[in-house]
Amino acid sequence: MKRKITCIICPKGCEIEADNTSGELVISGYACTRGKRYAETEVTCPMRTLTTTVRLPNGRMLPVRTDSPIPKSMLFECMNRVAEIKLEPVRYAVGDIIKRDICGTGANLISSSSWDPVAGI
Ligand code: SF4
Repeated sequence: MKRKITCIICPKGCEIEADNTSGELVISGYACTRGKRYAETEVTCPMRTLTTTVRLPNGRMLPVRTDSPIPKSMLFECMNRVAEIKLEPVRYAVGDIIKRDICGTGANLISSSSWDPVAGI
């Protein structure tokens, strides 16, 4: 099967082709090795950074993300786990770990914003 992939690693957006019709994966159209690796991963095990929010004790939402990409196939499982998180009314800073090794992916869910329960922001 041949597949066209737009590389999202840099703004150049190369159109890469992945072809495994011969039984061997052949990647073409990339301008650098980062793009080749991206296309190989997209075909074999696509990865994504999970970006979402967790409800704070005051009802507002704290933006969070994984600190590294996780398998795309695990996004819904991780979202369900995120929905179960109950945050404590403590201060959160950017980069604080909210959930370590979420769903066994090896990625930590971290805060991408800050919140202070005293100031309420
Ligand atoms: S292949 Fe390389 S140059 Fe092209 S978009 Fe991807 S990272 Fe950028």
